[in-house]
Amino acid sequence: MMQKAKFIWNKIENLLFIGFAASILYLTINSFIDGSLKSFIGMGYLNDMADPIQKKIYYQSVMALLSMLTTFFLLVEMIRLFIKMHPFKNVNYKVTELKASMVGQPFMKRIAILFDRVGKVSFVREFFRRYKSTFLAKVFNEYISKLIIIFVYIEMMPFFQQFALFTVDRSWYGWLYAYLMWELTYWIWHYAAHRVRLFWCLHSPHHAPAEMNLTVAWVHFFAEGYYTAAIQVPLLMILGVRPEMVAIILVIDGTWGTFIHAGEDAFKNGKLWVLEKLFITPSHHRVHHAKNPLYMDTNFCVLLPFWDWLFGTLQNEKDEVKIEYGITREMDVTNFVDFYFGECICLYKDLKSTNGFKNKLYLLFMPPGWTPESREKTAVVVRQQFLAGQEHLGKTSRDFIIEKFKS
Ligand SMILES: [Zn+2]
Ligand SMILES: [Zn+2]
Repeated sequence: MMQKAKFIWNKIENLLFIGFAASILYLTINSFIDGSLKSFIGMGYLNDMADPIQKKIYYQSVMALLSMLTTFFLLVEMIRLFIKMHPFKNVNYKVTELKASMVGQPFMKRIAILFDRVGKVSFVREFFRRYKSTFLAKVFNEYISKLIIIFVYIEMMPFFQQFALFTVDRSWYGWLYAYLMWELTYWIWHYAAHRVRLFWCLHSPHHAPAEMNLTVAWVHFFAEGYYTAAIQVPLLMILGVRPEMVAIILVIDGTWGTFIHAGEDAFKNGKLWVLEKLFITPSHHRVHHAKNPLYMDTNFCVLLPFWDWLFGTLQNEKDEVKIEYGITREMDVTNFVDFYFGECICLYKDLKSTNGFKNKLYLLFMPPGWTPESREKTAVVVRQQFLAGQEHLGKTSRDFIIEKFKS
């Protein structure tokens, strides 16, 4: 009975995915072509980039360029997948075979055979593996989380501004201060999201994809916006950041935050030459999405790596350690329920099988992998064990400075 329900639900998920993928792709391609073509007559993307320059709002031009690049990369990723897997190879033979298997079958059976065959094409399988859950997450999140964010930022900011210790001015160092404070508060919630099991349940969908591509940027648990804003907004207001600064920072953070999810198919090494010393790059964020012991729970920042560097959570991509994406638990990425709610289900099961109120409470707030018996499976211990004897892999310039001071 349960098995049958699961089977039917999976078919429903697949159909929803096909529908949403078709419409999202149609809209994306359409607006990309539109924006590009209009550039020839001084509108579209060209206008989006040139207009802010005239108004001297330069960051908007950079953001417009980045959004255009991101859309372009998104399409490149998919086209390259298509070329790599060439689904139309031997198509004549396949069609003849398909027709033969349908002969004499009733109409509904023919449809079933057709879907079954298409589902077995390796390109289709890979497309589902990469994009099904990320596309469904996008649709699922689209409205719910946006409403939350709007409420939180519009209602909460003026309230907490009353408690501001001071207010920064709009000079360049005021902006730098504001951005650093944004990154600090971001680092705090993101760190908590990885180190507190309860929060990890909400953050894990973002880490569930087994492949890096731009659609991964869409995946966030819809309720994540609640507590991230509850942590960031009061702190930012108390630390003297102006609400209008937060509004602009949100745009920059969102655009850069999407761009750093470019996968290897769009942006091979993901590094930005010397800029990678100053900014978080796609390479840094690939490390953040890796499940390798060396990479787990590192690189929490979005644009400026400063706090990661200072707190010792910065990890550069190493040639010796090839990135493996995803989370350490066995899971089926094409099963949306497992992808989105899997960690919640695991926590629920662990809570049920753990004895004692205190242990249950610990289970909620200790890092993922913790059990009353051992800490062996937590990311910190796993990483330490991996680094034993090859400490150089995990070091940054911060560690060299500390060593200099010590000696
Ligand atoms: Zn994360
Ligand atoms: Zn990410």
